[in-house]
Amino acid sequence: MSVERTTVPVLEVVGVEKRFGEHAALDGVDLRVEDSEVVAVLGPSGSGKSTLVRCIDQLESIDAGSMYLDGQLLGYEAHRGHLRPLRDVDVQRQRRRMGMVFQQFNLFPHWTVLRNITEAPVTVHGVAPAEAKRRAMELLERVGLADKAHAHPRQLSGGQQQRVAIARAVAANPRVLLFDEPTSSLDPELVDEVLQVIKDLAVSGMTMVVVTHELAFARSVADRCVFMAEGKVIEDRPAREFFESPQSTRLQAFLTRTA
Ligand code: ADP
Ligand code: MG
Repeated sequence: MSVERTTVPVLEVVGVEKRFGEHAALDGVDLRVEDSEVVAVLGPSGSGKSTLVRCIDQLESIDAGSMYLDGQLLGYEAHRGHLRPLRDVDVQRQRRRMGMVFQQFNLFPHWTVLRNITEAPVTVHGVAPAEAKRRAMELLERVGLADKAHAHPRQLSGGQQQRVAIARAVAANPRVLLFDEPTSSLDPELVDEVLQVIKDLAVSGMTMVVVTHELAFARSVADRCVFMAEGKVIEDRPAREFFESPQSTRLQAFLTRTA
C-alpha cells in the first residue's frame, strides 16, 4: 500500500457549493493551488469566477464543501471534538492571510497612497508605523509609483490606482493573492502596466489565483488555467495544454470567441 503523500497545497477548495436562492453559483468546485503557483481562472460572464474568489476570501459563506489554507480549514475551528463555525473576529484573522485585488481598486479616496498601504499593517497587523512606511515605499518602488506616495487616489490614473491596490495587498504579506478581473475596468492602454506588476509578482514566487479575461496574459504567466462554466470547473490544466489542446467543446468555443 502506498503511503506517499504530496505536500500540503497553499490553497485547497473541495466540493464547494454556493447558492443564491435557487441558483447554484458554485456547483461542486475543486481547486488546488501549490506554493508559488499562479492559477488563472477563465470563463464566461456569470460562470461563478467572482463567487469563487469571494468564497475563498470569505466575503461569501459557502453552503457545502470545505476550503483549506496551508492545510488549515477555513471558517471553522475544532471545539470539543466537533467543528464549529468561527466567530467573526477569527474569520477576520484568517482573511488577513489572503490578499484580494478587486476590479474597482477599492482604495480609500480621502487617504494618501501611502496611508492606503500602511493603514492595515499598522492598525491590524501591529507593524510599527516607521517600518510599515519603509515597506510601503519599497512596494511603491516595485510597482513604479514611489513618486505618488503623497498623492490621493483621484489624482492617479486607473492603472496607477490598481498598482497601488496591488501594493496594498502585498503589504500584508499574504500567503495567497486573489485577483478578480484586475484590469477589466481599465482603459486598454493602462492594462499592460498592471499585468506587468502581476507578472513581476509571479516571478517573485507569489502564490496567486487570477480571474481574468486576458488570454495572452493567462497563457504566458499562469502555470495552470481553470475554465469555469455554470458554477463548475470544466477544465483545469497546465496553461500550455489548456490553450493548445482544449478538451471540451465549451472551452474550444470560448477560446475561439474570446481570442
Ligand atoms: P462571474 O464572476 O463568472 O461573472 P459571478 O460569480 O459574479 O460570475 O456570478 C455567478 C452567478 O451567481 C451569476 O448567475 C450571478 O448572477 C449570481 N450571483 C452572484 N452574486 C450574487 C448575489 N450577491 N446575489 C444573487 N446572485 C448572485
Ligand atoms: Mg466576475
